[in-house]
Amino acid sequence: MNSFRVRLTLILIAMIGLAVLAAGIFMGKTYRDNHLEALQDNMIREMRLILDDMDLKQGNPDDLYAYYTNAAKHLKVITDSRVTFIRADGLVLGDSDHDPKTMDNHSTRKEVVEAKKDGVGHTTRYSDTIKENLLYVAMLDHPEDPNSDIIRLSLSLKKADESVQRIWTALLAGLLILFVLAALISYRVARGLTRPLEQITRVSKRIKNLDYKARVDVKSNDEIGELGMAINAMADSLQVQMTRIHQNERQLGTVLDNMINGVVMIDASGTIVLLNRMAEEVLGFSALDLVGHHYASAKQQYELSQIIQEALDCREHLRDEVTFYFPEERLLDLNLVPIFEDNDEFGGVLLVLQDVTAIRRLERMRSEFVANVSHELKTPVTAVKGFAETLLGGAVDDPETARSFLQIIYDESDRLNRLIGDILELSKIESRRVPLQFSPVELSSFVNKTIELMSAEAVRKQIRVSATVEEGLYVEADEDRLRQIVMNLLANGIAYTTDGGSVSIVVEPVHDPNLSLDEHGQENYEHIRIHITDTGMGIPKKDLPRIFERFYRVDKARSRSSGGTGLGLSIVKHLVELHKGTITVESRVGVGSTFTIELPVLQ
Ligand code: ADP
Repeated sequence: MNSFRVRLTLILIAMIGLAVLAAGIFMGKTYRDNHLEALQDNMIREMRLILDDMDLKQGNPDDLYAYYTNAAKHLKVITDSRVTFIRADGLVLGDSDHDPKTMDNHSTRKEVVEAKKDGVGHTTRYSDTIKENLLYVAMLDHPEDPNSDIIRLSLSLKKADESVQRIWTALLAGLLILFVLAALISYRVARGLTRPLEQITRVSKRIKNLDYKARVDVKSNDEIGELGMAINAMADSLQVQMTRIHQNERQLGTVLDNMINGVVMIDASGTIVLLNRMAEEVLGFSALDLVGHHYASAKQQYELSQIIQEALDCREHLRDEVTFYFPEERLLDLNLVPIFEDNDEFGGVLLVLQDVTAIRRLERMRSEFVANVSHELKTPVTAVKGFAETLLGGAVDDPETARSFLQIIYDESDRLNRLIGDILELSKIESRRVPLQFSPVELSSFVNKTIELMSAEAVRKQIRVSATVEEGLYVEADEDRLRQIVMNLLANGIAYTTDGGSVSIVVEPVHDPNLSLDEHGQENYEHIRIHITDTGMGIPKKDLPRIFERFYRVDKARSRSSGGTGLGLSIVKHLVELHKGTITVESRVGVGSTFTIELPVLQ
């Protein structure tokens, strides 16, 4: 139970208890006083009657003892009180209960002194003689004469005390009942007072524990009601703000997680406080392992730690490119931006990581390509220029030389033309400026027509070209581009095969064991394969991985003599990839080569 409620209850109970106790004491005392007063009045009345009736003899005490003692004893029976006769000087002349001769002088007894002064005196005293509380009332025989004899009645207060005791017991019982009632009422009152406070406390605790939906349900119009309303208003505002904060956090999280750059936030003390998904990927560590740790303990590459330290020290924008070897070799562009808080205090460093491996490779390839292109263009241009100069220098006068030189000039410019054509074609394909026009191509007639186009060259080199195509095979493709692919491979096959050899083209569906038969009982297929095999010179193993590169030629001189540009296979590879297909090559030097294209039947 709430300690405030306990305290309040106890205070209320104590207050009520004290009030009841005070009332009890007051009542008990009043009762006792009234009782004593009534007894006294009674005794005074009795003494008056006695004195009226009796003749108080004077004389030698020895003669009076018997008289007064007898009178006292007689009177005791009537009044039911102890009776004492005392001479004006305090000498006890007779007593109903004791031998007067053995008794002390009574002149200093309080009731005697009072009686001598006022005519009547009284006191209550514990009597050693009879071991009880006694009420003594003394009275002068002649109230106006202080030297007259004194009669004293004393009455045991045992009965009076007993009745007061009874009253006290009753009072205590009543008090106890009152007390229990008061305690119950106090508890209820305290509960009524503290319950709203307890509820407010509970709600405040829930709000503290991030439960912003908690509300106080206090409807009173007093200060507690106002407090409840204030807490509810605070919770409303907190809820709105927290929703906003969560929304911002979510948005920020989404942005961070979907950024293509890695972002790492490091505070001024060097502790990593944030790491987005891309940074995890680039650095090969999960955020759980890094966040909360010092960057130096994060087992990162030395250069990275060094540049972070530098950025923390100089608090300026730093930029660098660093090669990372873990989790794989990458070139990362590092941008370190200092963070300054609102009060211009240095808050740490924001590290932005960008994987520039691909970009740099592309840049390198592009510049290599430009160098290659220039070189390739230069060769025929130099030849043309050289032979033209020789002709101008006088060779034109010799018709035979002039003719052979002009033939060379013609061949070289033709080569130049083809080279430029291939370069343009490649750049067109690479930049995807020409979209493919897909349509179903019936492969049997397609292959036959393509072979026909190459027949002149084949006949010239006495090379047999054969085709094996399953009837009714279709593929979805851009027919012109597909023809370009097959013609390029056939041309290579013819070019790199010595006279009298053969080139074959085989087209077959790729059966997928997981696919069921179609309605004609035919097996379904999703891919087709085109094999183009020649009996030519073959390609050395070490060159196989590179033959699809631009300008790569196994034998420059031979390629040149066959009119090649070194771009054919890269154009083929690009076109196959545009059809979402793959191209592979198998070759043995001196035996021949087989190029295999696999294309999906549907795009
Ligand atoms: P090129 O215009 O020189 O033929 P390609 O890109 O078509 O250029 O071919 C690249 C190189 O691959 C050729 O120079 C040649 O050395 C080799 N090559 C291509 N096809 C064959 C083949 N069927 N047999 C032997 N070598 C080939």
